Amino acid sequence: MPEPLRAPGPDLLAALEAALGPGGVVPPEPRHLEEPRGRFHGTAAAVLRPADTEAVATAVRLCAAARVGIVPYGGGTGLVCGQVRPEGPPALILSLERLDRIRALDTTDNVIVAEAGVVLADLQSAATAADRLFPLSLAAEGTARIGGNLATNAGGVNVLRYGNARDLALGLEAVLADGSVHHGLRRLRKDNTGYDLRHLLIGSEGTLGVITAASLRLFPRPAETATAWVETADPATALALLQHLQDRLGETLSGFEIMARRGLDFLAEKLPQVARPIADPGPWSVLVEAGAGHGAGLGPRFEAALADAIETGLAGETLIAQNTAQRDAFWRVRESIPEANRLIGAVTSHDLSLPLSQIPAFIARADATLAAIDPGLRANAFGHLGDGNLHYNTFPAAGRNRAEHDHQRARITECLHDLVDSFGGSVSAEHGIGRLKTGDLVRYGDPAKLAAMRAIKAALDPHGILNPGAVLG
Ligand SMILES: Cc1cc2nc3c(=O)[nH]c(=O)nc-3n(C[C@H](O)[C@H](O)[C@H](O)COP(=O)(O)OP(=O)(O)OC[C@H]3O[C@@H](n4cnc5c(N)ncnc54)[C@H](O)[C@@H]3O)c2cc1C
Repeated sequence: MPEPLRAPGPDLLAALEAALGPGGVVPPEPRHLEEPRGRFHGTAAAVLRPADTEAVATAVRLCAAARVGIVPYGGGTGLVCGQVRPEGPPALILSLERLDRIRALDTTDNVIVAEAGVVLADLQSAATAADRLFPLSLAAEGTARIGGNLATNAGGVNVLRYGNARDLALGLEAVLADGSVHHGLRRLRKDNTGYDLRHLLIGSEGTLGVITAASLRLFPRPAETATAWVETADPATALALLQHLQDRLGETLSGFEIMARRGLDFLAEKLPQVARPIADPGPWSVLVEAGAGHGAGLGPRFEAALADAIETGLAGETLIAQNTAQRDAFWRVRESIPEANRLIGAVTSHDLSLPLSQIPAFIARADATLAAIDPGLRANAFGHLGDGNLHYNTFPAAGRNRAEHDHQRARITECLHDLVDSFGGSVSAEHGIGRLKTGDLVRYGDPAKLAAMRAIKAALDPHGILNPGAVLG
């Protein structure tokens, strides 16, 4: 067991101020101590804002020597409380926001090298300016930073075709717990030279190292994009529609998002300025997108595939985006669902992964489970159906508020997570473990994997200074 961590004393803070220079050590702002769902409030002695990798290394070295905890911080959009530390001796938040440079972009290698603090939307724009695509995309992309995306192995709306953050990273630069720098910014597709630190660091949520930069894959930008809003009867029909479109459109299919009517109703109630594509939506809708290169004739293939889907009853009312503005409007609806949920006030939120074939049965069982706990509770299911990622959130009955259900939260979560486990699914598809799901990791995790994780943590961070309390508790 490592010795207990300490609060930073005046000597450490003075040394950090001297090392990081003006603006390098600042008091925490409210954003540093909150998380998007407002469930946890953190404490911190100060925020460190190093300007480059060497300064990150110096800060980590000083904190390690003083046995002071560090909480790495990107954009603060994480949904499992990994970036906020409510308990323990006050730690230091290590913000990567000043490491915000694009170091290189090469259209022959199809690689972009970005520092950890680059905002995801800025990274996408840099790729677009070079006529390339960086496909990682999620609703928080205007705030989340690429270091945070890699630390959480973020997913988002394009995983179906391009994979998650892990699949997009060719190499990493990171500061390890003793302050040493792992110089792993390779651009290679093949590199079988022993254990791959990159894959240990990705998804480690700041508990094994501080990511300072990454070399990331770029893709050709689809010359043609086709997008449609499609009503479908139920999740099983949506799944059959997915298979039909995959058969007909193959690899070009990049997005397949499902939304229950309830989410669209929440949107109409809380964000009426975001117009629903269909004023009186059916029980389930999907947002479908495909992209292809020049001359692929995507538009006619897409239309024909959807026409056949309508013919065979897989699709109901269907709107094909006629221009970019309409496409953007469809996506705005999908991306506004989490905000509408937040404004309604979820009792519980679940980021679940399931074998595709099990999703319809899971939703039916989950609805029944919820009704047995409290028939007044409302469920809203939506998510990245194409890759098996379902967000299943629960809400109070209309006119009641979430605080009235506080006594049921633990039971709802346990029942739904037990159900996911019984279906061979995962209780964290893309958000991570953070501090919210440490108990779930123990309850559902494979014992051999947990033992290996603890051994890795002890080897790489023997004093336990990196994001104490996250992931392994
Ligand atoms: C509206 C909304 C929609 C979202 N949609 C999606 C979605 O579709 N898919 C998805 O996967 N997620 C989604 N998220 C969750 C969130 O955006 C992602 O987890 C994102 O990757 C977090 O990035 P961040 O920079 O905000 O990280 P932060 O919140 O700052 O940190 C997250 C974790 O990573 C660690 N960390 C941050 N930076 C570093 C670093 N440089 N080195 C080491 N550790 C670090 C932190 O300590 C923390 O544990 C959504 C969030 C919101 C609010």
